[in-house]
Amino acid sequence: MGSNERRATIINEIGAFIAGKHKWLDYFEEMERCFDKHYVQEEDRKDLCLASLGAKTIKLLKGIVRPQKIQDLDYRTIADKLEKHFYPNPNRRYYLTKFTLRKHRGNETFFKYVSTLRQLLKDSGLASEKLRNHLIENTNRIVKTKIETELMKDDTIPTLSQLFSKGLEVDERYALMERMAKHHRKKRKVRKCFRCNQPLVPNHENVTCPFDWSECEACEMPGHLLAACKYKNIRCNKCGVLGHVTKICKGQKGLPEPPTEAPTDTPADTPADTPADAPANTIPEE
Ligand SMILES: [Zn+2]
Ligand SMILES: [Zn+2]
Ligand SMILES: [Zn+2]
Repeated sequence: MGSNERRATIINEIGAFIAGKHKWLDYFEEMERCFDKHYVQEEDRKDLCLASLGAKTIKLLKGIVRPQKIQDLDYRTIADKLEKHFYPNPNRRYYLTKFTLRKHRGNETFFKYVSTLRQLLKDSGLASEKLRNHLIENTNRIVKTKIETELMKDDTIPTLSQLFSKGLEVDERYALMERMAKHHRKKRKVRKCFRCNQPLVPNHENVTCPFDWSECEACEMPGHLLAACKYKNIRCNKCGVLGHVTKICKGQKGLPEPPTEAPTDTPADTPADTPADAPANTIPEE
């Protein structure tokens, strides 16, 4: 961990936790935000967390974890134990609060973030529409910048599917960088999800795909993203632009599609490259 000064600044910024005055979920999310802001690594978070909490909470924590010792537990476990203590019987409101507060952490993949949010939405009984605005507001710096520069140039509000695609592009870039760093350049055949085109292992493991709430930009079929579409490299017969089927084209014959347009006036003609119901890659998810 850097200088003592930096440490003191962070601890001071977080401040002590006072039960009764603060709500644990608010406090914890604020603490995480502060760590991300100061680029605190995961392994340094425990020390700073314990130093911030204050004597009263440390005493409480000792009681909660007994017979284990605080020094034997990692940061996430400590946070979990405190959360369970302050919210022994989670209800809808609890999940709602968790959803509202949950930011995209600096070192977290977009995939993981969306999975977490989806679960919270489900548990809180909220509608899926909440996800779009939440993602626009709360993704981490890198994804946010991408969304703002590539999707929101002229105040257009991106669709959920567009947000998914941009977030996954960032994930993919990081995964690639990691593979390069590890010198694993061998091209191995990886099984990919037919909804989001991410590798099933390790990304998906046993989780269902969190991106099934999406509509393809190339063929307008629900349930998969452009990255996984068999039509993503197709050239439109009508406007000549790459990446969508003629059936959904909003451009004019011989002219490229206008950049922004409401997706209402779908032409009625059905040319040869009309999408089938099933997306390209038919490998099942589990
Ligand atoms: Zn998937
Ligand atoms: Zn498609
Ligand atoms: Zn077209």
